Amino acid sequence: MEELIKKAGILIEALPYIQRLYGKTVVIKYGGAAMVDQTLKASVMEDITLLKYIGVNPVVVHGGGPDINKTLDQLDITPQFHDGLRVTDAQTMEVAQMVLIGKTNKEIVALINKAGGKAIGVSGIDGNLIEAEQYKTDINGKQSDIGYVGNIKRINSKVLEIIAKDEYIPVVAPIGIGNDGHSYNINADTVAGEIASALKAEKLMLLTDVEGIKPSKSADNIAPVLTATEVYDLIENGIIDGGMIPKVLGCIKALDSGVSRTHILDGRIPHCILLEIFTDRGIGTMITKGSV
Ligand code: ADP
Ligand code: MG
Repeated sequence: MEELIKKAGILIEALPYIQRLYGKTVVIKYGGAAMVDQTLKASVMEDITLLKYIGVNPVVVHGGGPDINKTLDQLDITPQFHDGLRVTDAQTMEVAQMVLIGKTNKEIVALINKAGGKAIGVSGIDGNLIEAEQYKTDINGKQSDIGYVGNIKRINSKVLEIIAKDEYIPVVAPIGIGNDGHSYNINADTVAGEIASALKAEKLMLLTDVEGIKPSKSADNIAPVLTATEVYDLIENGIIDGGMIPKVLGCIKALDSGVSRTHILDGRIPHCILLEIFTDRGIGTMITKGSV
């Protein structure tokens, strides 16, 4: 009996958090490395399904770097990166599209469905969700491209609103469509930040393979909270680098567009989404607007 009362207590503790999020949108990005473990993956999908059933609207965006690399390896293609971005020739783009939309996306959809939810997978091509243009960067003083890597021009979020309005959970593969009709590979964190902005989400949660953001190279602990100003300083000093950069920039973009809360979370902790949402302290690093 005592056990049962304790269980009821835990549920009641969640009530104010549920009230705050009821009817609101939460964008969840699920990252490459944290996606490898099947049991963990299933626990993340359970959390997402539970959110939907208590009246929150989860929208899932996924990466899939390791999946793409595995298939490239099977095809004897060596992945190439420039400043952390995948150099994407036509063949690599074709593989990325096949893997992200055909494999990774459908696996996540199937896992949510298995957890009792109803997921629908879309890519940025569907409903013109992600309009993209070719990304250009400075290489040896010259504006150059790195193949089919895209910048986001516009998000047409209607398709997500239609899916999420009913009992469905949208699951987005991060591929954009150019007005040249080509597919473009886009960093999934950037996509999550832009989608959270377009949907005026309440929360953006980026799940990755570290506890949160380390505030110095030698730090043992992560920073529980960072302001946008502190984030820019950490980038400037090289403390935040590589794959963490699009995450923090995605958070700042979302905050600027009115998203209330943004978080970098450890996707390796079982039920990290519920732990962040339904506990006072939360977990991971929260990025707040602060002064810029
Ligand atoms: P994902 O698949 O989740 O997008 P990424 O590898 O792209 O993963 O980005 C997460 C990585 O960012 C971490 O594994 C870590 O190596 C790196 N990183 C860079 N700067 C920091 C920092 N200050 N604190 C924590 N991790 C950082
Ligand atoms: Mg990444």
